[in-house]
Amino acid sequence: MISACLLGRPVRFDGRGAARPHPLIDRLQAAGRLIPLCPEIAGGLPTPRPPAELVPTGHVTDGAGGRAVIDATGADVTAAFATGAALAVETARRAGARLALLKARSPSCGAGLVYDGSFSGRLIAGDGLTAAALSAAGIIVCADDDLDRATGLLAEIDGDSA
Ligand code: SF4
Repeated sequence: MISACLLGRPVRFDGRGAARPHPLIDRLQAAGRLIPLCPEIAGGLPTPRPPAELVPTGHVTDGAGGRAVIDATGADVTAAFATGAALAVETARRAGARLALLKARSPSCGAGLVYDGSFSGRLIAGDGLTAAALSAAGIIVCADDDLDRATGLLAEIDGDSA
């Protein structure tokens, strides 16, 4: 599975893509092995949309994994993000996906690091809602700034299933 924006699809909050040229992506795409998905679009959000960040729950409605997703207007968009995460897991399971290549730092797709909810550009350790859900479902998640590691992981996966 791959974040759709990494293939250049214009699904980001700002209406743009985030094409990520890399030999691994090129190879998987040529082999027809990529399943592109944007969980925020799948969850029903429009493009463009306000940027959003993960914040600790307590002052807003209940969030997934003890967090909520709040956009820059102050709207709680947790439900759409959670729906998108659940659909990503369902899609990945149906396809038998074992590895997810995800856009770094997104409140949905971020794997390992996400923004801290202050809209100030500060990063903290953590996964976006979709990355966390995929990981909990047993799918290996890898951020797009770590695609060399993903290349090794895929070789292991392919070796396992050969
Ligand atoms: Fe890209 Fe994921 Fe954000 Fe969609 S939710 S634009 S796929 S990072």
